[in-house]
Amino acid sequence: MAKVALVTGSTSGIGLAVAHALAGAGMDLALHGLVSPDEGDALAQEFKSQYQIKTLFSDADLRNADSIADLVQRTQVELGSLDVLVNNAGIQFTAAVEDFPRQKWDDIIAINLSSAFHTIHYAVPAMKKAGWGRIVNIASVHGLVASVNKAAYVAAKHGIVGLTKVVALENVETGITCNAICPGWVDTPLIAKQIDAYAEKEGLPLEEAKRKLITDKQPMPDMTPPENIGQLVLYLCGEFARTMTGTTLPIDGAWTAQ
Ligand code: NAD
Repeated sequence: MAKVALVTGSTSGIGLAVAHALAGAGMDLALHGLVSPDEGDALAQEFKSQYQIKTLFSDADLRNADSIADLVQRTQVELGSLDVLVNNAGIQFTAAVEDFPRQKWDDIIAINLSSAFHTIHYAVPAMKKAGWGRIVNIASVHGLVASVNKAAYVAAKHGIVGLTKVVALENVETGITCNAICPGWVDTPLIAKQIDAYAEKEGLPLEEAKRKLITDKQPMPDMTPPENIGQLVLYLCGEFARTMTGTTLPIDGAWTAQ
């Protein structure tokens, strides 16, 4: 039987690349993200015909715990199980702590941190029964170090690193591993907004703004292609990674080496 993966936020960026990597390895897929049902269904159909796998699409809003419970249950019922859970969906907002809007704080904590608790909470019992499971949390370098103006994001990402370690420890004898990936700059729509804003603020051409913004924190001036994160997730799903659990894996152009 093919393994079944749920990748949150897989309509865009890193999540979409992770979905391609897992589908390429023959896994059935629950695709998820905030796009219209038509767009989501078209994406699910595209994956189905490209990879000859079973798919579903959900636009569950991850700020709502009941919707998350439904998402996990729907995956298990419609695709037969949930073996690989990738908590990837996330948003960003930047402002100094005294200017940080309360709603933005609540949304970022809900989407970037609490949603991973809820998916794991609902997915683990069946993984335990099956004696096998892989949980991969897409954290960030901001799960390991901080930057100014990112109070909610840094708090959520440090939180998900802690959650990863607890889930790993609780499952050392169950066949389930839980790891966090900590990317530096990755070329996705989430980052494009930050580059546009920086270019406008500094009055710089886009390419120069991009290089300056990246190298301000990350020694290697290249962004990580999202596909590279997909391959790392795939590695963590394999049997070679059976004893790799509770780790935080930077893929960050030496950002956190400093
Ligand atoms: P993206 O903006 O391209 O994609 C985000 C995805 O999350 C989309 O599918 C979107 O629909 C979904 N999403 C957002 N809000 C949601 C909500 N309320 N309910 C359900 N789904 C929702 O972003 P990305 O750059 O691919 O980021 C993916 C993850 O990687 C995030 O957790 C982000 O923090 C992390 N990350 C990104 C970078 C980077 O440089 N891009 C670096 C480190 C970590």
